[in-house]
Amino acid sequence: MKTIIAALLVLPNLLLGEMTFSMIKPTAVQEQKAGEIIAQLQASGLRVVALKITKMTPEQADIFYKDLKDKPFFPELSKMMTSGPVVAMVLDGDNAVAKTRELIGPTDPKEAKPTTIRARFGKSKGDNAIHASDSVVSAEREIPIFFSGEEIFLSK
Ligand code: UDP
Ligand code: MG
Repeated sequence: MKTIIAALLVLPNLLLGEMTFSMIKPTAVQEQKAGEIIAQLQASGLRVVALKITKMTPEQADIFYKDLKDKPFFPELSKMMTSGPVVAMVLDGDNAVAKTRELIGPTDPKEAKPTTIRARFGKSKGDNAIHASDSVVSAEREIPIFFSGEEIFLSK
C-alpha cells in the first residue's frame, strides 16, 4: 500500500518534471541580453516551456512582489520592473527551482560567482538582470501571474 501511495506521489513529477518561473528584467532586455541568458539556462538542461515579452503594470508588480511591499526598496523595485518590457518564462526540468537559483546567483551581482547570470549581466542588487522563483510554492504562485495553462507547452 505504502509503495502504491509513494508511486502515485512520484508519478506527476516524472510526467511533468519540476517547473519554475523566471523573468529577465527590463535593463537586460533593453540591452538585448535575453538571448544569451536563455541560452545559458538551456545549456544547463532546463527546458523553456513558456516564453513571452511583456510589460508589467504597477498592479502586477504589487501582486508579484507582495511579500516585499513594506520594504524600503519596494517603490524603486516597482519602478524598475515596470520601466520597460521583461521576458517571462517557465522552465521545466529536474530540480528546476534550485538549478535556476544556482545558475542566476545571489541577489547582489557583486557577491555572485563570475559564471552566474547575475554576475555576467546584473548592474546592482536592485537591477540584477533576472528573477527566479525561490521555491516550488513560489513558482506555483508566480507562473499564473504571467501564463495561462494554454501558454505552457510541456509535451516532450
Ligand atoms: N531588491 C533590492 N534591494 C534589496 C533586496 C532586493 O532592490 O536589498 C530587489 C532585487 O531586484 C531582488 C528583488 O528585490 O531581485 C526581490 O528580492 P529578493 O530578496 O526576493 O531577492 P531574489 O530572490 O530576487 O534574489
Ligand atoms: Mg525572491
